[in-house]
Amino acid sequence: MNNNKSMQNITNLFSFENASNQLEYFIKNKASQYAKMRNFDLGSLEKNFVSGLSPAITRRIISEDYVVHKILKSFSFSSVEKYIQEICWRTYWKGYLEYRPQIWEDYLYDVEKFEFKKKSSDYAKAISGETTIDCYNDWCHELIQNNYLHNHTRMWFASIWIYTLNLPWQLGAEFFMNHLHDADPASNTLSWRWVAGLHTRNKQYFASAENIKKFTENKYYPKGQVEYNSVQFLKWKSYNPIDLNIKKFHDTEKIKYLLVHENNLSNENLPHSDFLFIQKESIKTIKRASQVNDFIDKALKSFEQDVNKANYKEIVLFNFNDLDNIKKYLDSNETESIYSPYPSVGYVNDAMKDIEKNKGFKFEFINSEWDRLFWPHAKNGFFKLKKQIKTIIKDLNQHSFNF
Ligand SMILES: Cc1cc2nc3c(=O)[nH]c(=O)nc-3n(C[C@H](O)[C@H](O)[C@H](O)COP(=O)(O)OP(=O)(O)OC[C@H]3O[C@@H](n4cnc5c(N)ncnc54)[C@H](O)[C@@H]3O)c2cc1C
Repeated sequence: MNNNKSMQNITNLFSFENASNQLEYFIKNKASQYAKMRNFDLGSLEKNFVSGLSPAITRRIISEDYVVHKILKSFSFSSVEKYIQEICWRTYWKGYLEYRPQIWEDYLYDVEKFEFKKKSSDYAKAISGETTIDCYNDWCHELIQNNYLHNHTRMWFASIWIYTLNLPWQLGAEFFMNHLHDADPASNTLSWRWVAGLHTRNKQYFASAENIKKFTENKYYPKGQVEYNSVQFLKWKSYNPIDLNIKKFHDTEKIKYLLVHENNLSNENLPHSDFLFIQKESIKTIKRASQVNDFIDKALKSFEQDVNKANYKEIVLFNFNDLDNIKKYLDSNETESIYSPYPSVGYVNDAMKDIEKNKGFKFEFINSEWDRLFWPHAKNGFFKLKKQIKTIIKDLNQHSFNF
């Protein structure tokens, strides 16, 4: 295996092969120090001790199950528990949003509502990295250039955006959604809400100059720049969980049509179908930076190249704004459902709901076993899900790992 440091590269993660190489590199070189070092942002992915896999995990170019399975081949559960817990934070956020889709609706509504704020010079400075806070400006440029930020830096960034620059959290979340390669409606919206004090009642997250100094190893010390006086809590809104019915998918089910979209590009466990419809290009109605669209386009292409063509009667490329390619393959009475990996609450789900409503398509969504087993525990706090991690992973793998 190549031990070259450039093995960790965000822009390369569009293919399963590159993502699994990066995972192997992480396992070999960094995983053992993850728990101790993961909160340090030492200035680059090469220097840091995180995996940098989020762009691939977000689009399921590589699945959570695969990542955990691989890491447990090299380590005991207890020695990589922290890493597995972080993977499960993503699962928790996703499940939590499934129970409360109204949070996503409200976020979209609020982004529109705050459109007028975008005309202010404060907003212009905040999104171009021209504020008076040096570290913030550097992170802003880093986000725009690299389409990635370290987790701790995202927390500092969001805190400064909300409490120092006094801008609405929704516009900060939108700015992240536009620029991150790993942009995820659940992890992003809910993390911003958490910093803003809207996830756990009476709990806000404040970045401090001392904390930034410690975890950047003295690179930044914004003393006097990120201080807060008395900060008001934002208006609290309770969201009651809806009922979720996550069906188990039996791979004996006969599928005629299967549709693959940008939110689930895993070739692992792809059910068999007669016809395979593959999204051709990133959905252009979603507002995002051109590098992010390019990344998604490459990921879609890579998925298409990796598919075993011999398994299908026909493989058809389509775009969400032009479904004619698909239509001609559907039964004339259109009674047959189109199966598809569940895109989860967010833009792609909205686009598919729109197609069902306006084009008369009928989708049958398939949940991964990972989500099906974890999401029932994501109804309230993370702690409940955390307690289930070991049991569920044992069930999923059915191998005797060194637990
Ligand atoms: C304000 C804010 C916005 C965020 N927006 C996103 C987003 O849009 N998409 C996204 O995937 N993550 C988001 N995160 C979570 C986290 O910052 C990233 O997942 C993480 O930095 C990705 O880097 P990594 O792959 O090196 O993580 P590692 O530390 O190597 O972790 C491995 C994997 O676990 C998951 N993970 C790790 N930390 C978290 C976390 N705190 N919350 C959820 N999942 C986690 C990711 O899938 C990650 O790839 C956000 C966090 C904050 C504070």
